Amino acid sequence: MRYPFCPKCGGRLRLNENNETSKPPICTSCGFIFYKNPTAGVAVLVLRDGKVLLGKRRRGYSYEGLWCVPCGHVEWEEDVNDAATREFKEETGLTVDITSVYTVTSNYGERFIGTGFHKPAAQSVLIWYFGKIIGGQLAAGDDLEEVKFFSYSELPVLAFPTHEFVLNKLRDDHFLE
Ligand SMILES: [Zn+2]
Repeated sequence: MRYPFCPKCGGRLRLNENNETSKPPICTSCGFIFYKNPTAGVAVLVLRDGKVLLGKRRRGYSYEGLWCVPCGHVEWEEDVNDAATREFKEETGLTVDITSVYTVTSNYGERFIGTGFHKPAAQSVLIWYFGKIIGGQLAAGDDLEEVKFFSYSELPVLAFPTHEFVLNKLRDDHFLE
């Protein structure tokens, strides 16, 4: 349980009788149920000649020096598709049209147990879009310091196993050469 106190009244939160961490804690004073849900993230896959656009994470940011597909969090009240185009623009300088959803992953899913990216405490669901470039100039920004297209055989060391999983899937589906 990440939070000991009720955000409504400051009372003590407790787990349910069976101590199940998958269930929300309950306030012992006011009965408020502290629902906790995974957060939503977005990533945009832009392909060109069988290569995918990746970014190198900037010094001073988490996972610095490692590469990933441009991605980020959906903000409160933000449309999920707008979040995808906003994050991509901030990180790569490029404007994209979202063309379709490719796949969806969760960083706490069973397939990631033992990878170091199985995060029971910071759970997120990542929506992977295909995007088509419609404008802008390729330039790294925000938490990225370099952006570049890679073929599958040239892939650099990746920051996240979920990204590795999706890039493998792209190869298996013949999008990435
Ligand atoms: Zn309370």
